[in-house]
Amino acid sequence: MKHCPKCNKEKPFEAFYASSTHKSGYASWCKECESERNRLKTQKYRDSRLVKAKQWRDENKDKQAVAIRAWREQNFERKNHVRNYHLGHRMDAVQTHGG
Ligand SMILES: [Zn+2]
Repeated sequence: MKHCPKCNKEKPFEAFYASSTHKSGYASWCKECESERNRLKTQKYRDSRLVKAKQWRDENKDKQAVAIRAWREQNFERKNHVRNYHLGHRMDAVQTHGG
């Protein structure tokens, strides 16, 4: 039997996760407490991430729109530039080999 300090209960070793980081070879908390802690941690993390993302969106609505527009304009120009470059290059090649 092993004592879990979280729920303050004596539980059989099977109720604890095996852990190489602990000297006893078992996690200090029982499986129930560990999974409860993981559940809370995941939930808290997810909630805070959602809240932060929403806050960021609210604060940066205008900035984001400007950034997206600027990105689109930049990429549009770059695409055209690349296409013109390829077209010109290909025409050069045709002239050189076909001439
Ligand atoms: Zn426990």
